[in-house]
Amino acid sequence: MNQSDIDNIQLMIQGDLLLNEPMHKHTTFGIGGNASCYIMPKTINELKKVLKYSSKNNINTFFMGSGSNILVSDIGYNGIIISLKRTFKTLEIKEDATINSDSGVMLGSMVKKATSKGIKGMESLVGVPGTVGGALYMNAGAYDHEISNYFESAILLDQFGNEKMYKKKDVKFGYRYSSFPKNEILIKATFKYHKGNPETILKKKKTASLSRKTSQPLKYRSAGSIFKNPEKKSPAGYLIDKSGLKGFTIGGAQISDKHANFIINKGNAKAEDVIQLIKLAKQTVFEKYNIKLDLEIKLLGEFGAI
Ligand SMILES: Cc1cc2nc3c(=O)[nH]c(=O)nc-3n(C[C@H](O)[C@H](O)[C@H](O)COP(=O)(O)OP(=O)(O)OC[C@H]3O[C@@H](n4cnc5c(N)ncnc54)[C@H](O)[C@@H]3O)c2cc1C
Repeated sequence: MNQSDIDNIQLMIQGDLLLNEPMHKHTTFGIGGNASCYIMPKTINELKKVLKYSSKNNINTFFMGSGSNILVSDIGYNGIIISLKRTFKTLEIKEDATINSDSGVMLGSMVKKATSKGIKGMESLVGVPGTVGGALYMNAGAYDHEISNYFESAILLDQFGNEKMYKKKDVKFGYRYSSFPKNEILIKATFKYHKGNPETILKKKKTASLSRKTSQPLKYRSAGSIFKNPEKKSPAGYLIDKSGLKGFTIGGAQISDKHANFIINKGNAKAEDVIQLIKLAKQTVFEKYNIKLDLEIKLLGEFGAI
């Protein structure tokens, strides 16, 4: 990106446009170098203009929700990062348990508001950080429930700023996977839930929340589970634990001694420290169990082979 790109984009945006913005401020890991440009557009029209401009001028663009599943490299990102987490926040919960949510709404807020209105089906998502857009893109899930279970439709913008509607039948969801195209940004989603018994809903929420607090190192910054659980085999955390790596530390990053599939930032971790731990866990588990661990988190920036 050059200065004239920045000047042009600045003219299109009334929302925040931050230059050389440190990504440790925008990720739950608290790690990451600077992005050339971090934008929080105020309106769909602003967003469309930026998308059009960046695709026409071949500028790298990345969509970020609240950065709770992302490791950004220490040298940062050369391009534009767009986040809707502060500006696309409308949430509509209808009497018939249909929910229309902008993608910047925090998932926790949707769960809290919907369950308090007696809507069931999302209790186990309590405590999953992130935006509705990020959750849907990742098909976030917990305790055998995934956000896609009650998905109806979504509106995305493609790289030229055109609106596209995706219905349930148009999208494939899998374990931490959706088939939404990488170069399109999710702006709104509709879910169709059902009403349930308020006491049962509260009980399920409490169970999920307690289980999370007991098993996860929530005192520290992290990006949640680093690896996906291998299919039909032991969970990644179990394999890493049995490989003797709990508590293993490199620089400011540590394989949590509470949950071995979490890498925590002990205060001053670099992305490179996390990457070294990822490599170590992958290699050790492969040597010991002949199981290949795949990343659940997304990497942004230059990392080389992992
Ligand atoms: C303590 C902790 C616990 C966690 N527990 C769980 C858990 O139980 N289950 C689980 O599934 N996850 C868990 N996570 C991971 C994370 O919270 C989820 O993946 C979350 O849904 C990511 O949302 P986000 O808005 O932060 O997305 P980001 O991390 O910002 O982005 C994730 C991906 O989604 C894409 N994306 C984000 N927004 C958009 C958009 N508007 N349009 C298109 N693409 C977009 C990004 O490009 C990126 O590829 C946990 C994380 C932490 C820190």
